[in-house]
Amino acid sequence: MTKYCLLDTDKYSTRVRPPEHEKLYCYTTQISNIMENGNKEEILPIPGKKNVLITSALPYVNNVPHLGNIIGSVLSADVFSRYCKARGHPTLFVCGTDEYGTATETKAIEEKITPQELCDKYNKLHKEIYDWFEIGFDHFGRTPTTEQTEIAQDIFTKLNANGFLEERPTMQPYCQHPEHENFLADRYVEGECPLCGYNDARGDQCDKCGNLLDPFELIKPRCKLHQTTTPVPRETRHIFLLLDKLQEQEEAWVKKAQTEGKWSQNSINITNEWLHKGLLPRGITRDLKWGTAVPLKGYENKVLYVWFDACIGYVSITATYTKHWEKWWRNPDDVTLYQFMGKDNVPFHSVVFPCSQLGTGDKWTMVNTLSTTEYLNYEGGKFSKSRGIGVFGSSAKETGIPADVWRYFLLLQRPETSDTEFKWDAFIRANNNELVANFGNFVNRILKYVNSANYDSVVPAAPELEADPDLSKALKQHVKDANEILRRYREEMDAVHLKAGIAIARELSSLGNKLLQDHTVDNNLFKNHRQKCDVVVNLAVNHVHLLASVIAPYIPATARSILEQLQAELLIIPDDWEARSIPADHKIGKAAHLFQTIKDSKQAEWTDLFGGDELKKVKQAEADKKAAKKAEKDRKKAEKEKKRKEGKEGVEGDLKTDDGITEVTNATKEVTLQTS
Ligand SMILES: [Zn+2]
Ligand SMILES: [Zn+2]
Repeated sequence: MTKYCLLDTDKYSTRVRPPEHEKLYCYTTQISNIMENGNKEEILPIPGKKNVLITSALPYVNNVPHLGNIIGSVLSADVFSRYCKARGHPTLFVCGTDEYGTATETKAIEEKITPQELCDKYNKLHKEIYDWFEIGFDHFGRTPTTEQTEIAQDIFTKLNANGFLEERPTMQPYCQHPEHENFLADRYVEGECPLCGYNDARGDQCDKCGNLLDPFELIKPRCKLHQTTTPVPRETRHIFLLLDKLQEQEEAWVKKAQTEGKWSQNSINITNEWLHKGLLPRGITRDLKWGTAVPLKGYENKVLYVWFDACIGYVSITATYTKHWEKWWRNPDDVTLYQFMGKDNVPFHSVVFPCSQLGTGDKWTMVNTLSTTEYLNYEGGKFSKSRGIGVFGSSAKETGIPADVWRYFLLLQRPETSDTEFKWDAFIRANNNELVANFGNFVNRILKYVNSANYDSVVPAAPELEADPDLSKALKQHVKDANEILRRYREEMDAVHLKAGIAIARELSSLGNKLLQDHTVDNNLFKNHRQKCDVVVNLAVNHVHLLASVIAPYIPATARSILEQLQAELLIIPDDWEARSIPADHKIGKAAHLFQTIKDSKQAEWTDLFGGDELKKVKQAEADKKAAKKAEKDRKKAEKEKKRKEGKEGVEGDLKTDDGITEVTNATKEVTLQTS
């Protein structure tokens, strides 16, 4: 069996070489990286190329991600990274866990372990989840490193030298419990809400009435960890980043970046709202132990605030990947930076971090494109870890459904412009009607046909069709149509419209199915119209090869399987597809099914498995609330109506009519009973 490689020139030179590959930059390491997780060789930008640096929001270490978190950042970034690599651009995709901060320190105290031990445990958990979903980071790091300390302190020191930092006194709650002896973040103070009396209000917000609070407003305040200890106000000093002094520079940069980088609408709106209100100084230090040390005298017991620190994590994580990190991060002329995240993270990436960069006066690679998502909901409700509602972490694999099916469906539902829903019936339909019936059918039908005795797995040559101008025209049209689809695919993908990209990939598969149908590829065609059969089969196999590249960013395991069946390497996504990448006489491997049908009965099973009962309770509670509101409204309305009619014609005549009136009678009775 010949296994040929597009990148191995020795083997490849004996075969037809599609001219598009001559023009393309082939980056050997990367091509294998598109299909594998992780990489073997260091990826660095190459001057003059389109070098792409991709980050996805650093997941907070002790939150277990749910499907919405996964599609919101890491999966979207992964698809774009694989696409850029499949286009032949030198691409680096970095991420890691965000580990510093109050939440980690508090959780570690709760679990009676050190923050380091806690982070080790959760970092591993995150990595396992992303590995299962085939998120192909080139490097997945973490924030507590010496690189982080060096880079963050360097930025801090330069901001200070340039006059963008200021020390200010602040009052903060302090827990005097002997095991704690520390300042408390607002949300770690609990107590009674001064507005609604709710007993478990947090110092930043009351969950019952939704009002924003100050921790000192709480009645009977207590430390979240030490419920019997009353926090006391204590003066402390903090360093503020003077964002107001950077507003002008920031505005000039934002204006340019938003236009050139085609930011998603929500990131434009959120950023502009911040700028419109006017930037305010923001505290960037905290009284904590678990964080990056502040390089200032008198700040030995304080650390850098996690949101000043976290975005610097992208830089330091790159620095733990390569000592040449500055080639990525101090190279705005050669590097394009794409950042992926949920919309709640926007201001830190569009305002706080860029202002920190600008304030240093150094040369920085700054974000070109912010790709931010709205929220993915679960079956009409919200994901809830505490209630066990929805699919969290690695529990997706409990269904026995391969990661590719999850990836495909999540990308179809990507909340690009508004919130979207995860629904099991839609999940099953997408698998059965699209993956099995469209993609799977096309690939399997043609490869099985080549496996058959007719061709014995050898791709036939495609002779010139001088004798059949109609067929020749039809096949040329097919290539033209495929190229038109490909052009739209590239356009949407370049603009990071990943939802549109997958819909277009499906069109390419439909076009393949149409080719087989239009020319009725069967035994009759082989026996009676051999030349036609050869030409169509050759084209269809090449079409499969192209399809594998186009779907590879979305469903990499499926693309791998197709390439294995084709016995071919990944085709770089071309500017102009000529249908010649799989040459005549090439022997393919054995056809195998790409997807399996999911039984409809699974819907009920999975609904139960992933918190169906809890979700029902939540929904019931919501419905009850709504119904009670409506009943009250109806009652008032009917009462009004009754009074109006009583005035005219008396009560008797109306009671026999509809339910609304009967309800009024009951309600009136209750009222009567209460008052009497
Ligand atoms: Zn309240
Ligand atoms: Zn305490």
